This record gives sequence, C-alpha cells and structure tokens, in this order.
Amino acid sequence: MNVTVVGSGDAFGSGGRFQTCIAVAIEDIPRVLVDCGATSLTALRRQQIDPNEIDTVVISHLHGDHFGGLPFLILDGQFRRRTRDLTIVGPAGTRARLTDAMEALYSGSSMVERRFDVHVLEHVDAEARRLGELTVTPFEVRHASGAPAYALRLEGPHGSMAYSGDTEWTDALLTASDDVGLFLCEGYSPAPIRWHLDLETLSRQRERFTCRDLVLTHLSPTALAAADLSDWKVAYDGLHLAV
Ligand SMILES: [Zn+2]
Ligand SMILES: [Zn+2]
Repeated sequence: MNVTVVGSGDAFGSGGRFQTCIAVAIEDIPRVLVDCGATSLTALRRQQIDPNEIDTVVISHLHGDHFGGLPFLILDGQFRRRTRDLTIVGPAGTRARLTDAMEALYSGSSMVERRFDVHVLEHVDAEARRLGELTVTPFEVRHASGAPAYALRLEGPHGSMAYSGDTEWTDALLTASDDVGLFLCEGYSPAPIRWHLDLETLSRQRERFTCRDLVLTHLSPTALAAADLSDWKVAYDGLHLAV
C-alpha cells in the first residue's frame, strides 16, 4: 500500500499546510482518499494526483477541514467530463451535509445530471466494509461534529494503515491501529485540549501502541513549535510512505 499525505494541516492552514487529505494506492495510482478537507483539490494538484482517478473517499467526520473538499471534487469531475463513479463513505448524515454544502457553495449543483454517479454510504461502528481491494473499518472516537466521528483502519492485500481523525484520547485508537504498518495520528496540541489529541497524552500512551510506525499529523501552531516535537515523526504535505 502506498500512502501520500496530500494535506497534513489543521483546519487553519497552520505551517502553510493543506487541510487533511491522505491518498492511498494499492499499486501506483491512488484510487482512495481518506478525508477531503476544503483545500484538497489544490493539494491533490500540488501532488500531481488526478482527482478524476479517485474512486472512493472515506470520511472520518463531518468538519469542513475533513469533508469540505467534496463539492469541489464533484464539480471538478463534472467540468472535466469524469465518467468514473465516485463512492463516498462517511458518518451517518453525510448525504444531507454534502447536499447542504454543495447548495451553499454552488446553488443548484446538487441536482445536476452528470456522466458519473456519486454513491454515499454510511459507516457502522466497528463494521468492516469491503471497498475494492481495501477493507475499511471505522471505530467511533470522541469529537463533536454534529455526527459520529471515527478513526479509520484500512487493510489492503499487502499492507495496512490507520488514521485517528480528530479526537480526544480513547482506547478505540489502540484497536483501530492494532498491528498496522502506519498509524497517522492527530497531534493537535502540546497539552490536553477538549476534543483533540495532544503530545502529552500520546507520550503517556505511546507504549500501548502496537503499530509499526506512528506519524503525527493535523498539528496546531503551538504543536508545530513544541520543543519535544523532535521525539516524534511528523507528516508533511507530500510525504510518501510504503506500508
Ligand atoms: Zn474536527
Ligand atoms: Zn480537523
């Protein structure tokens, strides 16, 4: 499995980083995105990934820096004559939130006839779903977004990864990342903060993780400037990892 961190930033562009977007390829061409923040279309172009090649977008939770790029991805496909269907898998309520976002940004855009279909599926906690060659399992975490929020576990034919999404500490992170090759984990702040993960808590829990590699993402300005950040591997936009 080849993983490209397309966007490693928080919601506010801290450190000049794009919002969350992770591209996953079983072989060469990324066909799956994990999260699609509002800046993701630009970030995909920066990584020379053709948005029309993406089959599936798996969404961790319904915040704009994690799903706000979907209207742009869909409209880009419409204007560039995409024919490949797009499957979106997200929390309960994703279909309505996507329609609302499309109508708020481009009135009438949710009703347009296109050459491709957009299928919206919903996560069921701890239930594995087969998506092509990948198996994706969501694990509910602790983050307020008007809908359930999930950590995601992705297993391919030759590798596996997990992604925390945004969350306070929960042991669900240990389950989601158990034995995976790569755990991309939020490292939002140096000290504990409501609804997010912090370096202090992660340090305390670090011994309990069984993943091969733990890489931090979604860092705030204070986390990016933290003195002990050198104790961690930190993602950046364009980081490629084979897992
Ligand atoms: Zn969030
Ligand atoms: Zn976020």
